[in-house]
Amino acid sequence: MKKTIIFCLTTLILSSCADQAKKSNEVNLYSQRHYTVDEKQYEAFELETGIKVNVIKANADELIERLKNEGENSPADLFVSVDAGKLQKAGRLNLLQPLESSVINSNISEDLKDLNNLWVPITYRARIMVYSKDRVKVEELSTYSALTDAKWKNRVLVRSSSNAYNQALLSSIVANKGADYALSWATSLVNNFSRDPKGNDRDQVKAIAAGQGDIAIVNSYYIGLLLSSEKEEELKAGQSVGVFFPNQGENQSGSHINISGIGLAKNAPNKENAIKLVEFLTSESAQKRYVNTSYEYSVNPLVKPSAIVGSWGEFKRDSLDLNQLGVHRNTAIKIFDKSAWK
Ligand code: FE
Repeated sequence: MKKTIIFCLTTLILSSCADQAKKSNEVNLYSQRHYTVDEKQYEAFELETGIKVNVIKANADELIERLKNEGENSPADLFVSVDAGKLQKAGRLNLLQPLESSVINSNISEDLKDLNNLWVPITYRARIMVYSKDRVKVEELSTYSALTDAKWKNRVLVRSSSNAYNQALLSSIVANKGADYALSWATSLVNNFSRDPKGNDRDQVKAIAAGQGDIAIVNSYYIGLLLSSEKEEELKAGQSVGVFFPNQGENQSGSHINISGIGLAKNAPNKENAIKLVEFLTSESAQKRYVNTSYEYSVNPLVKPSAIVGSWGEFKRDSLDLNQLGVHRNTAIKIFDKSAWK
């Protein structure tokens, strides 16, 4: 600090003094993520760089609202979301700035990148089907569309439509097949529900284990978490289901995926530290920590899935531009209301 002051005084460049004062050895995150792996990542980053990571957690819309209200005075450097749709929204509201780094650029699979460079993916996950190993044969499964067949009447489990994972899935269906089709799909699927939507993704798997339904739509990593759980009930639930990646046929879209991603805040006070953190999070070592702790997929092509997730095999992912998950979000929410998906 003393050096900085002397430097500023001797050069008399006042703007430079202000810049120096702003710089701290910290980086501030507004994060929607809710996984224990994140704390491990930030600890490892602090250890490596000496930069302290401060995290404010809330849901994505609350964080976006906060960024908007704080404007130029926002302390946030990075906005972290589990939904490309919310990152697209933050970008659309002019709350983000491009994240330029050749390190990040070379760390990430080409097809997962944001075309506008306003966010960087740090992990991805597939919204898959899981089925009762006792009551369903895997040959009976094919696409999200086929889940509306009468044969699945009173057998389908899925969480509420207020959940971002389902909103993103329906947004992808709107983007791929149009709003009319999306409405008929959602309405027919509701007809096949075995109960009113309740609980989270893990609860749908537990409901299959308890015989309350035969097939569920869930995020892939939750199955990894159940299968590695120390809780007997969770382990049993995970073991009672098989994993199926929908829409794998030649003319089909591939399974719906979404990313967890990071955007650089428009007014980031610690921009350099922020970029360093994203470089770290997309590196091989941090990506290994993600795949082995939260069972998500790596965005770095050098990093393989965990043993559990890898055992499900490779799959074709939907190549839709993930910004479309934000573009069609309001349409998807309206369709959910019309379809009576609670
Ligand atoms: Fe989650």
